[in-house]
Amino acid sequence: MDGKACAATVEADLLIRIQRLVNNGIQPHLAVIIVGNDPASHVYVNSKVSTCERLGIRSTHIALAASTTEQELREHIHRMNEQSDLHGILIQSPLPSHMDEEALTDLINPDKDVDGFHPTNLGRLVQGRTDGMLPCTPSGVMQLLDSSGISLAGKRAVVLGRSRIVGMPAALLLAARGADATVTVAHSKSEDIQALCQEADIIIAAVGRPEMVKASWVKTGAVVVDVGINRVEDATRERGWRLAGDVDPEVADVAGWMSPVPGGVGPMTIAMLMHNTVVAAERHH
Ligand code: NAP
Repeated sequence: MDGKACAATVEADLLIRIQRLVNNGIQPHLAVIIVGNDPASHVYVNSKVSTCERLGIRSTHIALAASTTEQELREHIHRMNEQSDLHGILIQSPLPSHMDEEALTDLINPDKDVDGFHPTNLGRLVQGRTDGMLPCTPSGVMQLLDSSGISLAGKRAVVLGRSRIVGMPAALLLAARGADATVTVAHSKSEDIQALCQEADIIIAAVGRPEMVKASWVKTGAVVVDVGINRVEDATRERGWRLAGDVDPEVADVAGWMSPVPGGVGPMTIAMLMHNTVVAAERHH
């Protein structure tokens, strides 16, 4: 599965929609807030901002010091909720440990919650309504499966991971009407994950454990989507590390379809963030 190509298709559609908005005097506008100095988070934010620039989405990049108080961040959110020419608000995770990330997410106007993590948007998803703001990584996974022509109806899917931002919403989307997979959610307390995977037609790996899913876990021809992004030491690289997914690259020998890391789910996550921002602008106006 080629995440870059799929993201390019999503972007091509967005360019048309953005032009239509601009012709009506509206420029989609995303604010990205980052707190602290986590280098990986700054890389993610820069790539979100540069994708905005490429597509003609206005972006406001707010970088706050690690010492910023939660109250100051709350005030930023309140101001942005009121700003009528701003359509999307994203708070880059992780926040410093003195901040309550979930409580801050709750403050974002659900219509501007382009990350799709507000309880209103996650709640809609639990109700089987997929018309709200969908979390970007899980909806990117669904788009990638769809663009590869993979039918999910009646298939056995195993989602490894139950996080609020990836595993659980991915499981809900796979089980939703229209997708119609039969879904098992596995996590750190699950027993014999290998056996669960061996039964699966589709495996979505979102655990944050480098190359955990081995070729012997995967049924011949199964679909394997690797969400994981892990830094592992690699003395052969000048920088001393490389990116690894949650799936062992040898799985490609048995899988029917597999998404690479990098170049799989990562580009799709950013494409779906842009999609949510455009949808928010279209709905607002
Ligand atoms: P997370 O919040 O740490 O959640 C990890 C999940 O995996 C938890 O549910 C945990 O179980 C489960 N888990 C951990 N070790 C396990 C094990 N040995 N066996 C079975 N389950 C295990 O992580 P996340 O935010 O969901 O992210 C997961 C991965 O995706 C990370 O590598 C992250 O960097 C990557 N990611 C990629 C993108 C992208 O755009 N490609 C976006 C977001 C995240 P418990 O619930 O029991 O603790």
